[in-house]
Amino acid sequence: MYYIGIDLGSTNTTVGLVDENGNIIEKKEKLTLADRGYNLIVKDIIEICYELFENNNIKTDDIISIGVGSPGASDTKNGVIIYSDNLKFKNVPLSSEIKKYLNVPVFLENNANCAAFGEYIAGAAKNHKYSITVTIGAGVGGGIIIDGKIYNGSNYMGTEIGHMSINADGEKCSCGRKGCWELYVSANAIIREAAITATKYPESKIFEAVNGDIKLINSKIPFDAYEAGDKYAKELIKRYVYYLSVGTANLINIFQPEIITFNGKMSAQSSKLIKPLINQVKNMVYGGALKTKIVITKLGNDAYIIGAAMLGKN
Ligand SMILES: [Zn+2]
Repeated sequence: MYYIGIDLGSTNTTVGLVDENGNIIEKKEKLTLADRGYNLIVKDIIEICYELFENNNIKTDDIISIGVGSPGASDTKNGVIIYSDNLKFKNVPLSSEIKKYLNVPVFLENNANCAAFGEYIAGAAKNHKYSITVTIGAGVGGGIIIDGKIYNGSNYMGTEIGHMSINADGEKCSCGRKGCWELYVSANAIIREAAITATKYPESKIFEAVNGDIKLINSKIPFDAYEAGDKYAKELIKRYVYYLSVGTANLINIFQPEIITFNGKMSAQSSKLIKPLINQVKNMVYGGALKTKIVITKLGNDAYIIGAAMLGKN
């Protein structure tokens, strides 16, 4: 028997056929093109599903359930995307739309929560019933697993850990508050800081890497400059790790998870940061002893698909 896991992203939608142990058998993706409305997106999803069935010689009856990970807040009970800023969706009855074509149970959940669940089922947090996955990309998201279950609050709006303020008088965030964590540790944040550094110090390796064209700075460049021994990049990364550690310690002090996993676009860079991060977090945790393991994702983007697929097993 199999599961279908769908990662409904603002750019791409990926559909995966997943076995009962959380292994992806095959996956395919298409552009989401959210502007055209959800009906056409669902039609694409169904088309890929049938392609996967055919390729792997299976029937609809072999599918236990379908799970969808979507950005924003989803009413998981009724299968409705309540609100997604990224997709520009409001009250979209996604589950019932999918069921029109495929008569199997459909589960819906926030995508960062799916990533956390995927890591718990088959990734770096496997067998850790109390775990947190922090997803660092353009923004910062996260999912919290408590006693082996996704925690999404009393109103499906949990758990926006990127909007935990680490500086009450800090910069203004798009959510309306000041000093949110994602303003300091997202890929966008590091690009913004690197641009400021490069503009101020043309002798820096960050400036050199883009030949002075500041717009070309990406989130990898400051890390490369840091590794090449650039003192300005070193300062920047030091500050970055500090902000990362403040939010991480906050999460540990509230939840005391067994493990925290870092996923998302930044995880490739974050692997270089784990050691300095742990060293700082050690001095910030309540009680003085760090018991929580801090690691990098094992699954990468597949965590979204696997976690969505396994919602039916939750
Ligand atoms: Zn915010």
